[in-house]
Amino acid sequence: MKVVEVLIEYANYSLDRPFSYCYKGNKTLDVGFRVLLKFNNRELVGYITKCYETDKSVEELEKEFGFSIDEVIDVIDSSALLSDDLLKLADEVADYYIAPKISVLQSMLPPSLSPRKSSLKAPKIAYDIYVKAVDNDESGLTDKQIELLRLISSADSVLKREIKQVSILKKLVEYGRVAEFKVEKRRLEIPDFEYIAPPELTNEQKGVIKEFNESDDKVYLLEGVTGSGKTEVYLTLSEQVLKEGKSVLMLVPEISLTPMMVEYYLRRFKGDVAILHSQLTPAEKYDEYRKIANGDCHIVVGARSAIFAPLKNIGLIILDEEHVESYKQDTVPFYHAREVAIMRGKMHKAKVILGSATPSLESRARAQKNIYHLLLLNNRVNNKELPQTTIVNLSDYRNIDRDSYIFSRRLRSEISGVLSRHEQAILLINRRGFSTSVSCRKCGHIFKCPTCDIALTYHKSDNMLKCHHCDYVMTMPEECPECGSKYIMKTGFGTEKIEEEVNRLFPEARTLRLDSDSAKIRTKIPAIIEEFRQKRADILIGTQMIAKGHDFPNVTLVGVVLADIGLSMPSYRSNERAFQLITQAVGRSGRKDKKGIAIIQTYMPNNYAITMSARQNYELFYRKEMEFRRLQSYPPYSYLASVTVAGKNEEHVIEGMVSLIEFLNHEFGDNGQILGPTIPYVPFEGNNYLRTALIKYKDQKLAREILKKAISLYSTKSQFHLSINIDPYNF
Ligand code: ADP
Ligand code: ZN
Ligand code: ZN
Repeated sequence: MKVVEVLIEYANYSLDRPFSYCYKGNKTLDVGFRVLLKFNNRELVGYITKCYETDKSVEELEKEFGFSIDEVIDVIDSSALLSDDLLKLADEVADYYIAPKISVLQSMLPPSLSPRKSSLKAPKIAYDIYVKAVDNDESGLTDKQIELLRLISSADSVLKREIKQVSILKKLVEYGRVAEFKVEKRRLEIPDFEYIAPPELTNEQKGVIKEFNESDDKVYLLEGVTGSGKTEVYLTLSEQVLKEGKSVLMLVPEISLTPMMVEYYLRRFKGDVAILHSQLTPAEKYDEYRKIANGDCHIVVGARSAIFAPLKNIGLIILDEEHVESYKQDTVPFYHAREVAIMRGKMHKAKVILGSATPSLESRARAQKNIYHLLLLNNRVNNKELPQTTIVNLSDYRNIDRDSYIFSRRLRSEISGVLSRHEQAILLINRRGFSTSVSCRKCGHIFKCPTCDIALTYHKSDNMLKCHHCDYVMTMPEECPECGSKYIMKTGFGTEKIEEEVNRLFPEARTLRLDSDSAKIRTKIPAIIEEFRQKRADILIGTQMIAKGHDFPNVTLVGVVLADIGLSMPSYRSNERAFQLITQAVGRSGRKDKKGIAIIQTYMPNNYAITMSARQNYELFYRKEMEFRRLQSYPPYSYLASVTVAGKNEEHVIEGMVSLIEFLNHEFGDNGQILGPTIPYVPFEGNNYLRTALIKYKDQKLAREILKKAISLYSTKSQFHLSINIDPYNF
């Protein structure tokens, strides 16, 4: 009989320890296999962390352990899921993020292999069946059979389903002339891009590559203005690494938004590339994952979770647009791909490159202290000028007239200019939908999400009210549910309203809209981007999605319709976010031969995030923002952790939080500052009430000890559920 210790699929702190089971069957099982088992009368999936033979009986073991031991119901896998280095990485991630180990394993593995019950229904390997001739002896065959045998012999192998003469084929197989064999199918269809020879590198690009190659440092921050040719640097370095027989991990924030990067890699490296991101179907993910694990390709281009791709012998890890927040997972284990990349790089003795035009303050501060090696690209390729940028003050009445309260005179005249020159424009408004707040004119009732308690957004295209936090939707009511009044007021505007305004003012303009509403259909985003690149539209209207990484050669105008959105959010990162967004957006203008301009509309023309992004001056912004962070003791001058308590009973949640804060205050003393309890922006999660607190500290080791103590004290309480987020972003 075998005894196994397993982690249960529930990612709770209170269950974050091994449970013992026995196995009497005859399947192989070992560490790293998944098993089906009963836990508290529920069928669950467990992940084996320890496995050994025993001569003892169950009764003897139960006596020895002091608890009852159930039997494993079934063994799911026939080999271990994770290699030793990934297991080691999982431990390190769980330790850094103080996360239940199982949550890390679940983040690492694709749905079909994940240690959770739902994985059992997930897709398995798909095969194509081929036939090939194995014996060309034609004696005793009919003419029809000979004909088919000759046809099959003339090729190496033929897809079985392409042969129409099914019964003749069957006979040939029966007679041993033709054999069937199966080949694993790759369900992700990869377009066949033509190879394009690399361009002659600019002197700046060569300089950066030389500096990289001559240094023994491990982590690099490649800071290059928009259009400075960072991608070509990545490609060149990737090629070097492949030539050394090592592999490359290339991360981008969101593949559907940056299909260009995939295309660049496919053109340069063809079939050596696997792709991993959230838009793939579970079947596609599974195929790509196995392809990587089998060593069939040496480059992975992927989004956040691709940092866990089972690549062997990694020589280089690249995070493009390292400042983008989607690298941080916003559910347990709350990991950030940058930190994991650095951990993984260390294990493989691989170099790590973080690239951005607007690095996160944390990364730039580390570069300043020589923790990261700073590489600079100061000029656009071929010294193309940065776009000329104008800030339009919306509170100055001279800038606005009655023709439009959304587009200033200046922005309108620039749009007209673009249209008459047959160039293209991008309009950024970082809010989707039509109106951002809907209320009753008579009684003041505000339409809110019943689960999240935040204002619903009106979407005109389908006449619905939608919650932008959860997936709640309702059809737009005709009258107020409180007082029955028909006067319902819609205020604030988003992408839909902007599109309507453009269509009203410039009826001849062809428009496209790109926001996460467009992302509901899987292939829609790349389709819209491609349509715009092909110049089948004049104006692209969208949220931050359009600001990222795209290279549209014909765009000569970028209009930021309202730069202030986000700046009023109560977060220490709001300046940084606004600066990055506007800088990236402005950088989309004038990238090829034509000169570009940008117009930034704002009610806060003196805000330094806006003025510095207008000047594309990262350096000055960095210094000002660092001063602010220092005064407020925010990262990178301190570390942050947030603790959240969730539960069905609000009173218990509040009591729990107050007691937890007392504990933290006592333990941290002068070594930390605890802010809270606060009601989060979205105060509910499912049916649970939430309360959070934020901890600022400088000593990571001490904080980890205290938080672990807090877990052991508070996670076993049944009235609420505790979660911890290390380096949280939403504060
Ligand atoms: P970044 O990512 O730094 O914003 P890109 O990598 O998108 O910039 O490069 C901007 C443009 O310059 C792209 O169209 C790219 O193909 C082109 N480019 C890059 N390097 C070179 C080079 N050495 N010679 C000519 N064109 C280049
Ligand atoms: Zn009303
Ligand atoms: Zn909601």
